[in-house]
Amino acid sequence: MQYEAVIGLEIHAQLLTESKMFCGCSTKFGSEPNSQTCPVCIGMPGVLPVMNRKALEYVIKTGLAVNCRIAPYSRFARKNYFYPDLPKGYQISQYELPLCECGFVEISVNGAVKTIGLTRIHLEEDAGKNIHEGASNYSLVDLNRAGTPLMEIVTEPDIRTPQEAVEFMKKLRAIVRCIEVCDGNMEQGSLRCDANVSVRPVGQKEFGTKTEIKNMNSFKFVEKALDYEIKRQIKVLNEGGRIIQETRLWDSNRGVTESMRSKEEAYDYRYFPDPDLVPVETDNAWIEQIRSQLVELPDSRKQRFVSQYSLPEHDADLLTSERATAEWFEQAVKPGCEPKAVSNWMMGELMRLLNEENRQIDECGLKPEQLAGLLKLIDNGTISGKIAKTVFEDMYKTGKDADLIVKEKGLLQVSDESEIKKVVDDILQKNPKEVERFRAGEEKLLGFFAGQIMKATKGQANPKIVNELLRKKLSL
Ligand code: ADP
Ligand code: ZN
Ligand code: MG
Repeated sequence: MQYEAVIGLEIHAQLLTESKMFCGCSTKFGSEPNSQTCPVCIGMPGVLPVMNRKALEYVIKTGLAVNCRIAPYSRFARKNYFYPDLPKGYQISQYELPLCECGFVEISVNGAVKTIGLTRIHLEEDAGKNIHEGASNYSLVDLNRAGTPLMEIVTEPDIRTPQEAVEFMKKLRAIVRCIEVCDGNMEQGSLRCDANVSVRPVGQKEFGTKTEIKNMNSFKFVEKALDYEIKRQIKVLNEGGRIIQETRLWDSNRGVTESMRSKEEAYDYRYFPDPDLVPVETDNAWIEQIRSQLVELPDSRKQRFVSQYSLPEHDADLLTSERATAEWFEQAVKPGCEPKAVSNWMMGELMRLLNEENRQIDECGLKPEQLAGLLKLIDNGTISGKIAKTVFEDMYKTGKDADLIVKEKGLLQVSDESEIKKVVDDILQKNPKEVERFRAGEEKLLGFFAGQIMKATKGQANPKIVNELLRKKLSL
């Protein structure tokens, strides 16, 4: 039997507000445990929550960026459950009336564009963190994170493969980073994902029973966990068993998903409207004011890069996946540089150096104008393309401009014919056998001679002149 997977994601994104959702405490990451708390976020009796307007705006902004309908009227609800990191005994969330509904995101997988529907985006508060340290027989609770604003983005069950799930997450991450509502830092947990997955025989309309894999914080985990879980479910069905609706955990050390608990139903949470919070009404003026703050999104920027700069899709895709990268590119092109050349340098040398140091483009000392300066030196023949590579690395490491490095290190390209001629003669004289073979028809040896000459001139000979001279000498 051939099976196909059906996947729906629930993504939690921590909002980049400075203060928490219902109190004034800071949301800064990594502070001393429990140093960012107050009676509201540690759930003292009698306190009253006050809504963070910025958090609402960020969710609306996200909704607009992913084509949602913004609800004119929405409401907060209490989701009741017990856990030590939840001192109030309930989480403030949204239930039957979320802020945003019915959106979509386009992803491209193997060259084909696919639309993934979004059911809803709602706003809620995060819980604290339980810390289980080593072998001690007690646990600690850190409530710094309690009350931090989170948005939950729920997709329709439109995803069919682990690869599509990862593409969706990447696209969503690019969008929330681009509109600056979430830093997308998965390692720190600012963006995490629960994946719902079921399988069904190909051709069957009804969905199978799903399981939910909780709290994955890397693309690799999402892909591997889904891969494993799909195979596990198919195996169970093939052996005549049935899938139990449950919550599972991904164990990245062992590479398996494990049953955590049977699935709780919505009614288990006894949702009810939070009586301490007024409903949220969004009028058109407010929505339009938020819309006016929207910047160009990754997809349309990509299209523009293709049409405005005549870049291949692949280049445009890579250059627009991060706003900072896209802006760097446009700065470098501005002085009149060839866009494809800028793109090649960025995707090759620059990315390589950044990766080596695990750095982001906006953390590097090299300015786009400096790459433009280097390209000018190549264009006007001051340095060879080969030397340019070392100059580039020098620029990156020292922050100096290209012309200064060329001057200091004496890297000027040699275009003086008589000087190059001497080297050409010398190399041909030293390799008589190769010269004979060349004359007997082995034309690819031209590359060998050129290589020797470049080596002898430490890459400084003008390759165009080298080639001309070689052809002249050899065709005799
Ligand atoms: P629940 O009520 O169990 O929380 P929801 O209907 O709220 O389920 O859906 C939660 C997520 O699971 C959504 O992303 C949805 O697209 C996805 N989903 C729903 N049914 C299935 C299914 N049979 N297989 C895979 N994913 C599903
Ligand atoms: Zn607080
Ligand atoms: Mg649900």
